[in-house]
This record gives sequence, structure tokens and C-alpha cells, in this order.
Amino acid sequence: MLPKNQKKLRVIAMSPANRWLIAFLSVACILIFSLHQAMATKFQNYDLNKSLPSLISQKQANNQANNQQTCRKYKYIGSELEPVSNQVLSNSQILFKTKSDNKALSLPAEPLPRIHQAAVLAKVPIMMYHDILLKKAVIYDLTPQELKKHFELIKSNQITPISINRLFAHLRTGSPLPKKPIVLTFDDGYGGHYEYAYPLLKKYGYPAVFAIHTSSVGINAGRTHLTWQQLQIMANDPLITISSHSKTHPALTKISDKQLYQEVVESKRTLETKLARSIIYFTYPYGNYDERVKKVVNKAGYLAAIAYGTPSEMFANQSKDLFAIARFEKSRLEKVIPQTWGNPTLPQCNY
Ligand SMILES: [Zn+2]
Repeated sequence: MLPKNQKKLRVIAMSPANRWLIAFLSVACILIFSLHQAMATKFQNYDLNKSLPSLISQKQANNQANNQQTCRKYKYIGSELEPVSNQVLSNSQILFKTKSDNKALSLPAEPLPRIHQAAVLAKVPIMMYHDILLKKAVIYDLTPQELKKHFELIKSNQITPISINRLFAHLRTGSPLPKKPIVLTFDDGYGGHYEYAYPLLKKYGYPAVFAIHTSSVGINAGRTHLTWQQLQIMANDPLITISSHSKTHPALTKISDKQLYQEVVESKRTLETKLARSIIYFTYPYGNYDERVKKVVNKAGYLAAIAYGTPSEMFANQSKDLFAIARFEKSRLEKVIPQTWGNPTLPQCNY
């Protein structure tokens, strides 16, 4: 038995385990107190008369208002607002001008030729069509009835065909799209485009791109081709965008620098003179391009170029850059429709 004064000393000295316990409890008290103070400061900023559901619905309303504002901002791209040459501004901005009063809207954009990171998530298929005629000769051909079936498939799946201008604005600025967008393109300027494709596009209200190689216009050797008069009628329609498809439709990677320049620059000049409008998109004949070709097309003042098959078929958003925008052959329509995606992280617009 210890003397009385030694018992007291043991209580005061405590065991090491008890000392740790006391230290732990002190730290915990300090932490709880600090947390309480922090929460009190945070919540004193809220209106306590508002319930949590009303705060959430207010936030949703704010988001909705912001989304509507964003959708309005980009609504007229293609119909009223046309993109203007890259040379006008620095390469991290894009300029749109109204068709009627020439007012300008400049938007921050990803430096050329990169695709905006907000656009990388969407999946916009660009479909490639060729001739439309009553009697098919090669696998690239479609009858008017088959084209109608394609349009019906697009319609019944609530897919929205958008203009190449809207896609271009999206790829450069991350601007919003409809929920399920698609782009329709018709290559080589065939007579069947005016006779069958154009009336059907008008009937459904679908925008489309027609790629024209200038030396074929008005030529009816073998297949019929569009005349300048037909092209002018189509070019005047807000649904239609004309792109240059070179002058004589060669494989551009296999010709000399001089020939390449003529194919790319002269075709632009001819189309602009004949149709009295800027030609800002290029479509590579056979989808054939390399770095040299891309550079010349960029330098000639085109804003973007549409490819095919190099390196493979994929969604426009997965393209390497704006001078190599990928497409799908028309036969893939059924396969790509379920994957079409306008990126729900962007505002959903009713275009
Ligand atoms: Zn072609």
C-alpha cells in the first residue's frame, strides 16, 4: 500500500494512454468548434426564409435563363449570320456577319485549326451522298425513293439536320446544338441533285452542303451535272451551302504545288464570281489530303475542309482538326443514328 501523498501523485501524472486520450479529445473539440463557426458563417449568407427546394428551383430557373440566352445568341447562325474569313480577326476569334445589314458578331474561338474542347464530347455525323437518279449504276448512287426513306428515318428518330455553318461554329466555339444533330452533304454536282435531292430537302426543311468541282458544271458527258443557273437557284436558298470540290477533281496529294494552288484557289474564285457569295468550305476530292494540301486550303481563305475516309469514318467532333473534318458514307445512316449526340452538357437548343 502506497502512502497517501504518492496516491495523489499517480492520479495527477496519469498513464501514457490517458494522456493520449485527453490530447485526442482536445483536438476533436477544437475541430468541431471550428467547423461549427465555418458553417455558421456560410449559412448566414442564405435567406433562411427560403426552403432548400425553392433554392434549387431558383438555381434551375437561372440555368434555364442562361441556356435560353446562349441559344438565342447562336440561333441565327447559318440563316442570318454567316462566318467571315479567318484572315479578318486573330485566330482565336471568329467573326459572323448578318446577311442583311452587315452587322458583325465576334465570338471567342479555339485557335485555328483546333476543335474546341466543349465540342469534342458531341457526336455529329456528316453523311456523304453522291448522285440521286432513277436507275442506279454504282453503289454510291441512290434513287429518289431511297433518299426519301433516309429523310423519313432521320425524321422518325427526331434527328435534326443542321447547316455546316452551325456545325462549324460549334466546332470552333463550343456553341450549342440540337439534341440529335446531323449534317447532309452531296458531292460532285450531279443533275439529280437539282432534280431530286433539292426538292426533297426543301420539302423536309433540311439544310445541306453541295460540293462542286467547277469544270463539271453544265457538262453532261455520261451523267448530267448541275448548270450555273441551277446552282445559283440553290445557292440563293438559305438551306443550301456550296463548297468548293476543286476545279477538275484530282487526287490533290498527287499533283504539283502549282496545280494544287490552281485547283484550290481558282475553284474558289470561279464559284465566288459566278454565284456572288463567299465560298468558305472546301471538300477534298476522294477525301484525299495531307499536310501540304491542308496548308494550301487554309491559306486560300477557306474556314474548314471536309474529308472522307482518311484516316477513317468518324463523327465530325472526333476529327483531327478543322481542315480534316470526317464523314460517314450514306450507307452508315442506320448505324450512326442511335449514336448521334448534341452533347447534353451544353444547353439544348430548339434549332
Ligand atoms: Zn467528289
